[in-house]
Amino acid sequence: MTDYDVIVVGGGPVGMAAAIEARLSGLSAVVVEPRSGAIDKACGEGLMPGAIPLLARLGVYPTGRDLAGVTYRSGGHAVSHRFSSGVGKGVRRTELHGSLRSRSEELGVVFVEASVGSVRESESGLAASCSNGTNIQGRYLIAADGLHSSIAKAAGLVKALSPRRSKRFGIRQHFHVAPWSEFIEVFYTKTAEVYITPVSEDQVGVAVLGPKSTDFDETIASIPELAGRLEGAAPASQRSGAGSFPQLTTARTKGRILLVGDASGYVDAITGEGLRLGFAQARVAIECILSDKPASYERAWRRVSRDFRVLTGGLISAANSPIRMAIVPLASRLPWVFGLVVNRLAR
Ligand SMILES: Cc1cc2nc3c(=O)[nH]c(=O)nc-3n(C[C@H](O)[C@H](O)[C@H](O)COP(=O)(O)OP(=O)(O)OC[C@H]3O[C@@H](n4cnc5c(N)ncnc54)[C@H](O)[C@@H]3O)c2cc1C
Repeated sequence: MTDYDVIVVGGGPVGMAAAIEARLSGLSAVVVEPRSGAIDKACGEGLMPGAIPLLARLGVYPTGRDLAGVTYRSGGHAVSHRFSSGVGKGVRRTELHGSLRSRSEELGVVFVEASVGSVRESESGLAASCSNGTNIQGRYLIAADGLHSSIAKAAGLVKALSPRRSKRFGIRQHFHVAPWSEFIEVFYTKTAEVYITPVSEDQVGVAVLGPKSTDFDETIASIPELAGRLEGAAPASQRSGAGSFPQLTTARTKGRILLVGDASGYVDAITGEGLRLGFAQARVAIECILSDKPASYERAWRRVSRDFRVLTGGLISAANSPIRMAIVPLASRLPWVFGLVVNRLAR
């Protein structure tokens, strides 16, 4: 006898989206998450236009600031593209978390405040052993436990990467300043990218992505145009970090365990679309569970993740290569190519 149709490990945005999808499909769902309150996380906080309808079909409408497109800047060069598929939204993670959590509770998702230590699989289902001493039984388990997924690791699904492969990290902080653009602005420096995402009428999020040695203040100071905008602006949040990227997996299912979101593999935050991708993965994972064909998730995952993997992989290869500082000048000379890429990612 199982307690739930779906055990979701991790109550981040993708885990909660999966739990809501499960409930909307008539399945019972429990989310196991050790952290309480409105969970924050280092993130650029740009919801791409494609994420908005994915959230709306879950009945989730977080407040934030509309985003019209993306601008890349470097030195004197700039290139902008307005999303052709609607608007995106800059949304604080705490706000996104709160709206997903309220909707989950409204639909009867059960929350358990604990972390999952281990998972045992049998023919009829699984048992998740939790840090609060309980064992939760379920027919399926969705691992949404983030970048360093212990479930993916224990299932032997994490891909070993060469120690020589360059690793990147993210640091983010918010500032009290009125947004100066309706676009997400991305500044390229020699080693890092800085993302400015308007998240409200009087706040912007600043996320810096780069190698481990990247210093947040020094990076901003190295971009006079941006340093001028942020000069004197009071911080609106604590500085926090995330990484390292990439984290890759060899497969996305093992028996009745399905990996979604960052736990299923994350190339890099350079294209700022982990959330849209994770919501799409959550949706197809639940469809595969509904049809009782977990193995079909692998193909569905590849289908919804393909563009992200190809475009992010290509951009990160260029950004880690000697042509890095040519990316923005080149994009400004070929704005239609830049537009194609932005539109593809925004879908
Ligand atoms: C600097 C930076 C900028 C980014 N910018 C953007 C952006 O602009 N737009 C965008 O869409 N994406 C962006 N991303 C990516 C985005 O943040 C992630 O893709 C997203 O957070 C993935 O959500 P998730 O629910 O899969 O994982 P997470 O948000 O990491 O949630 C995982 C949850 O699992 C819980 N957990 C972990 N282990 C266990 C366990 N054993 N048992 C139970 N629970 C557990 C954790 O406590 C956590 O709450 C960015 C990422 C970074 C680092």
